Amino acid sequence: MNNNLLRINLTEGIVTTEKIPDSVVFQYMGGTGYLSYFLYKELEAKIDPLSSDNKIILAPGPIQGTRIPISGRYSVGTKSPLTGFFIDANAGGFFGSEIRRAGYDLIIIEGKSENPCYISIKDDKVEIKDAQQLWGQRVHETDELIKASETEPKMRIIAIGPAGENQVKISCTTSDRFRNAGRGGIGAVFGSKNLKAVAIKGSNRPTNGNPEKIDEMRKELNQRAKTAKDDGHMLHKHGTSWLVNIANHNTQFPTRNFQSGEFEDHEKITHDVLDKLYKRFRRPCFQCPIACSETLDASNFEWTDEKEIAKPEYETLGMMGGNLGLGDIETIIHINFLCNQLGLDTISTGSSIAMVMEAVEKGLLKGEEFEHIRFGNKEAIFDLIHKIANREGLGDILAEGIVYASKNGTSNIWLFIRKVYRLLHGIQEEN
Ligand code: SF4
Repeated sequence: MNNNLLRINLTEGIVTTEKIPDSVVFQYMGGTGYLSYFLYKELEAKIDPLSSDNKIILAPGPIQGTRIPISGRYSVGTKSPLTGFFIDANAGGFFGSEIRRAGYDLIIIEGKSENPCYISIKDDKVEIKDAQQLWGQRVHETDELIKASETEPKMRIIAIGPAGENQVKISCTTSDRFRNAGRGGIGAVFGSKNLKAVAIKGSNRPTNGNPEKIDEMRKELNQRAKTAKDDGHMLHKHGTSWLVNIANHNTQFPTRNFQSGEFEDHEKITHDVLDKLYKRFRRPCFQCPIACSETLDASNFEWTDEKEIAKPEYETLGMMGGNLGLGDIETIIHINFLCNQLGLDTISTGSSIAMVMEAVEKGLLKGEEFEHIRFGNKEAIFDLIHKIANREGLGDILAEGIVYASKNGTSNIWLFIRKVYRLLHGIQEEN
């Protein structure tokens, strides 16, 4: 670790580097520790998360970028516009390691750019660049356009899609095309700063104090991962989709807005089906021998020209599958792809749509415009996803997230539904 903090102020267009004090390094170490420390230290109480007062922190862990296995995940933190509280989302892949390869242990982004921008980091060359042409682009297109304009195909990029630009409070960031830091509406904070992406390329290998000892640990951990017969082994073979059967067996699989924990069609959306029907590519995070992450060969899907798309993780199979009463694996793959491209968190989006479906099922939302929003109706799901990302109609309300309910001083979901109904029909709130 070299204890370098890179600070980028988008309002002033100023880039500075600072040394993180040893006392902070030893106490907080990196990742979530740094997020907690710096957000607490630097944010005023009660700031609006979508104002220029908020900050975004990108924090790799202390051993990230070294050869120590299973160290590939990094943290993204901010004051969440969804909860009003500290959020630490994290993602795997290579982006976090690249931060350290560029010579930094922490990046703090503050202020707000006047116009859409992205940040380009190549070791100590840090630039805030115009992103007018990128604004409105989906995540994969953004990734490709930045790589082309930087003439650097190996840049690691974290970006938002249209949902983040529209400050949807359940929008995520995506790095390395397939890795989402999903929770808490971090995408909306990027959008509120007119920040489309951060692209980074480093040329250094992070060092550590005792290379011999680290190498010994690395070998041992790799060996243990290779010979494991436990959960790690199943994750290696099937990825997190392996958990569908287990959750369902234990009556914990999200089903129809959590009205049940057992989904009658769960066998249609398990790892068995994914493994049997689709060609998969193993895409592990940096230095991870478990290698649970996979993508799918997309050449046979009629709805996309992409060659490779994300394989749904367990959470998406739960929240977009069982929780929406949907037992159709290709539709879930398509939904996952669409959310990833628009920059929507599949967990929060699935739970928001499921809530509406239950409200319609129970007769709390009535009317022609809601009638089709039924469990298992894929057209309704696609329609609502687009509406949430673009903040249209009912989607504009769902874009605020389920935390909206808590503004009534209660977590009672039905108060929220009644509020939705009143808003849509122009009926005044009762006191
Ligand atoms: S490949 Fe899977 S197990 Fe390994 S770090 Fe990434 S998410 Fe974790």
